[in-house]
Amino acid sequence: MALSKLENLYRQVILDHSSHPHNHGTLENSSQHIEMNNPTCGDVIFLELQKKDGIIKDIAFSGHGCSISTASASMMTEIVKGKTVEEAMALAEDFSLLVQDKDVTNEEELGEAEMLRGVSKFPARIKCATLSWKALQKAIVESDSGAAKAGFMKHDE
Ligand code: ZN
Repeated sequence: MALSKLENLYRQVILDHSSHPHNHGTLENSSQHIEMNNPTCGDVIFLELQKKDGIIKDIAFSGHGCSISTASASMMTEIVKGKTVEEAMALAEDFSLLVQDKDVTNEEELGEAEMLRGVSKFPARIKCATLSWKALQKAIVESDSGAAKAGFMKHDE
């Protein structure tokens, strides 16, 4: 496939995710929730997870953001749902390398999120792409410390 056709396909998939995001909304039985902002672009994400026995049983996000941040959050929730928190943390690390166009250990595990490698060419958009993954990492870390349960905690990216 010619590169331009591949780029068009990627663009289409990213647009589909941003206009019809997966796992968009709220959870009834979340064990963790977190709010995170990307002041550079104005993206705000509310991320909720339901964690049980070290597994992300369910995950949902809401808030408002640009198409890159929304598409990335949609992809992220698809990828980590059903994974262990360790796997999710490793994937978050991989994703942060991916958007810097660096080598990634488990590239196929990132699925459609691989299509966001192109944001490495647009440094201002990297924070849009990583916002949901950083919220995920923070929610997991704080769930281990028991801090996230009290309410939405505000964080600037
Ligand atoms: Zn953005």
